[in-house]
Amino acid sequence: MREYNTEILSVGTELLLGHVTNTDARDISEELSRLGINVRYHTVVGDNPQRMRDCVALARSRADIIITTGGLGPTVDDLTKVVLAESFGLKLVENQAEREQMYEYITYSNHFTENNYNQVMLPEGCTVFHNNCGTAPGCAFEADGTIVIMLPGPPKECRAMFRESVIPYLRTLSDKVIVSHSVRIFGLGESAVDDLFAAEMNSMRNPTMAPYAKECDCLLQVTAKADSEAEAEEMLRPVMAQVCEKLGDYVYGTDVECMEEAVLQLLQKNPKTFALAESCTGGEVAARFTELPGASEFLKGGAVTYTNEAKAVMLGIDRQFIESNLAVSEPVARAMAEHMRAVLNTDLAVGITGLAGPGGDGVHEVGTVFVALAAENGTWVRELHMGPQRTRSFIRRMAGNHAYDMIRRWLTGKEVAGNRSCPAF
Ligand code: ATP
Ligand code: MG
Repeated sequence: MREYNTEILSVGTELLLGHVTNTDARDISEELSRLGINVRYHTVVGDNPQRMRDCVALARSRADIIITTGGLGPTVDDLTKVVLAESFGLKLVENQAEREQMYEYITYSNHFTENNYNQVMLPEGCTVFHNNCGTAPGCAFEADGTIVIMLPGPPKECRAMFRESVIPYLRTLSDKVIVSHSVRIFGLGESAVDDLFAAEMNSMRNPTMAPYAKECDCLLQVTAKADSEAEAEEMLRPVMAQVCEKLGDYVYGTDVECMEEAVLQLLQKNPKTFALAESCTGGEVAARFTELPGASEFLKGGAVTYTNEAKAVMLGIDRQFIESNLAVSEPVARAMAEHMRAVLNTDLAVGITGLAGPGGDGVHEVGTVFVALAAENGTWVRELHMGPQRTRSFIRRMAGNHAYDMIRRWLTGKEVAGNRSCPAF
């Protein structure tokens, strides 16, 4: 297989000003490395045509694939297609199919302006990538031995287009098929996973495995290259089985994006309802689940019970009981879960109370969180100590992961309260 070197060229003055972090380049790099495609350079350039032209010329001189992000929209500073087409001597032509789809979109939009049609002007002869999350289509073309791929800037659109269109497109460049599966792990850090599989990672050439850290969990990516998809899958099967066996209960799912998605899949197989009583997570745990299509079948509702008053009024917990135990405590987390379960009459309910910082309660260290799960056969509580150096967002996300980990373990008949680690990566 030919070796491709890639340069990611992110376009946007907001990136240079530090208003926006270049997550698109990170996401694309991660995906490309999973596909076994080398990424050699990340370049960021503002919305300035001359500087963009210079960057394109440099990228052409050193990469086989140039992937641009941003600047595909309808406004005057969205110049990426204009500059790229011009650099490779291609005309921009209106794409009829995309124009018609945009016309359909107008029906649902009350702020549609004519300049939106600029988005359907695409380099002649390109492969068009329809945007399922927004309006600006992406595209790819090959000219003078360079492959150019253009993707929209908004991260959701960029990621979706990469998965739905770019991966299949890149596969057509090679006579080999690359298949990759991810094993998602909660409770072990990337370095622990690396350590556990060091021997395999050093000796394996095809399939390969590589660990990646996510914000509050990690994954092991297993990738095989073969003549056909079936053959690659055949190569991956024993490796995946071996990895899952070695990691045991730490594996919360394969080929899923997050813990709540793994929980949703389990609930679809074994339907149960649940509810959430959240204090320090402020509704984030519920919000994460409601991002997923199909959530409403299982999540009945929840309450953000931030103060003692809210815990008493909304959940019916005795105020005296809260005050004597302190709001951040094992008994209060347990009561929150049990009362929530009774209030909404669900199979399961979660209670979360903790100190996300920076202020404490004079007793517990910042980073202390109690997560409880109530079910008909009992209530379990995890006491977590994440440490005062953690950010509020880390503490909240990790608390949510523990809640989903407990639900997942209950649903699969595993020990619910086990696994209290909040690994550092
Ligand atoms: P739009 O149709 O929304 O204008 P676009 O493809 O023209 O899309 P830009 O205008 O460059 O994209 O960027 C739109 C928004 O997407 C930016 O304001 C920024 O929030 C986000 N964005 C752009 N590039 C990146 C990037 N590389 N990483 C993360 N976010 C980005
Ligand atoms: Mg734009």
